[in-house]
Amino acid sequence: MTDPDIPLSPAEGLGVVLDEHLRWVGQWHRAAFYRHGRGGESGSAPVAFARWCAAAHKEDLTHQPAIAKLVTTHEQMHRQARLVLLKAAAGDQPSEAEYESVIGRFEEFVTLLRRMERAFGAAASGLDPLTGLRSRRGMLEALEREMNRYRRAGQPFCLALCDIDRFKSINDTYGHDIGDRVLAAMAAVVSRGIRSFDEAFRMGGEEFLVCLKETELADGYQVIERLRADLMDTPIVLPDGRTIRITASFGLVEASADAGVDELVVRADRALYHAKNAGRNRVVRYGLDMAA
Ligand code: GH3
Ligand code: MG
Ligand code: MG
Repeated sequence: MTDPDIPLSPAEGLGVVLDEHLRWVGQWHRAAFYRHGRGGESGSAPVAFARWCAAAHKEDLTHQPAIAKLVTTHEQMHRQARLVLLKAAAGDQPSEAEYESVIGRFEEFVTLLRRMERAFGAAASGLDPLTGLRSRRGMLEALEREMNRYRRAGQPFCLALCDIDRFKSINDTYGHDIGDRVLAAMAAVVSRGIRSFDEAFRMGGEEFLVCLKETELADGYQVIERLRADLMDTPIVLPDGRTIRITASFGLVEASADAGVDELVVRADRALYHAKNAGRNRVVRYGLDMAA
């Protein structure tokens, strides 16, 4: 048993929420069909989910669509479950459809919980659950390793910061779920466009960082320019058959002796800013293409 006064972290609490609801659905079932509406909902309403929501809220997660969906499904499930119990308490046999609607919500709730558990697991392991790329966590360490190699052995490398163009309008036009698909498709194009020993990270939102190892600026430019063209030429096919085309802007920088990792990322960001200002869908090399 966990102490109800100690809030669980969002990642830890999901298993408790799941266990509690597995018990709850059995109680509800018995109350609805054998005990004529007594117990089940009012007798032992699950409390773990409310605590889990409080923890998620504290970590500023509740605005996320997946969590909002979980909350809505949970509410609908319990509302419908209560209706069935009220009916049973009044001596009416709930209809099959009423019973099925609770069970349907329950199954959806469990599916969403499991999916979220996997997502938290992936996040803890340093992978971004949406794109499968490495997340920002661990990115700086990986870049520091590359910087050390550069300083020790003079091994050059490039960083490319990449940001999808007008991504907000994709969300606004097609909805957030399609926006998520586009991010995953973008990540696939990026992964395909780099060599296996290069590294790609999701910086956050619709921003990605690519580390091209053993690569000088001229070669890096060719790789990223090809990636940009590949992205532009690869339509993203939606489940309903529609296609979306996207472009992205890139800021590219080569490691140099006068900059640490943080400064390199700042430089890539400045180059990216230039690429956006110059009209988007282009690669700007730090220094070289930034005369204006
Ligand atoms: P620009 O060409 O200047 O980059 O324009 P933009 O619309 O891409 O840039 P802006 O920064 O205004 O918008 C980024 C949008 O990305 C806003 C935000 O809602 C969306 N976004 C961030 N993270 C996610 C995510 O995980 N999923 C989805 N679907 N959208 C996201
Ligand atoms: Mg952005
Ligand atoms: Mg953008």
